[in-house]
Amino acid sequence: MSVEGGPGKLALTVVSGRMEDRETLKFLPGPILLLGAPGVGKGTQAKALMSTWGIPQISTGDLLRANVSEGTALGKQAKAVLDRGELVSDDLVNEMVAERLTKPDTANGYILDGYPRTLGQAAWADRHLSGRGPAALPLIAVSIEVGYNQLLRRITGRRTCPVCKSIYNIYLQPPKVDELCDLDGTPLTRRSDDTEEVFEERMRAYEAQTAPVVEHYRALGRFEHVDGEQPVEAVTAAVMDAVRRLRS
Ligand SMILES: [Zn+2]
Repeated sequence: MSVEGGPGKLALTVVSGRMEDRETLKFLPGPILLLGAPGVGKGTQAKALMSTWGIPQISTGDLLRANVSEGTALGKQAKAVLDRGELVSDDLVNEMVAERLTKPDTANGYILDGYPRTLGQAAWADRHLSGRGPAALPLIAVSIEVGYNQLLRRITGRRTCPVCKSIYNIYLQPPKVDELCDLDGTPLTRRSDDTEEVFEERMRAYEAQTAPVVEHYRALGRFEHVDGEQPVEAVTAAVMDAVRRLRS
């Protein structure tokens, strides 16, 4: 990893139970909101950032499920709301995130997935996260962007072999014989929700939900987007460059 300098980048970190030398200059990614529509490969990129920087990913969906299944106080509140068929409030989500951020693995930074989702959550996150922990860095947002038609091909072209579970894409990674598995000749199947209609609906919902949050961070100079149509490694490099620029 390259050595980064500058204020806010000198870290005293605890790695596997031992204190690292204070002289070790380590890049502090801080809190990162990773954005991307369904199908852009956000999960893959999050994993790459996690392993490079040793930071966790915090998904509000996972947090909610964990709190409910562990029966925490917040989980019990959430379960009561969900059992009534209602949506969990911003306040409750904020509290779960705040509680998660008290864990020591978040000291150098973390990747937020699915949060903040609303302007209310963003405002709360900005107040709550600023000045917190050794990183003490503001939340920055990086969006992975893939053109509509490319995304449509990625989603609607997906096919799976029901026998060996091989995954194909009839546009991007087609089988040798149309709609048949290369390995065992089984007719490929398509998930019932991998249709253009479902895709359009999900994209509309994503855009409507994300646009105000993007505008919020763009206005604060804490937003960058990267081209998600490059090879996976190039996207990872671009996301990391964007984070470094936003931190410099
Ligand atoms: Zn097969």
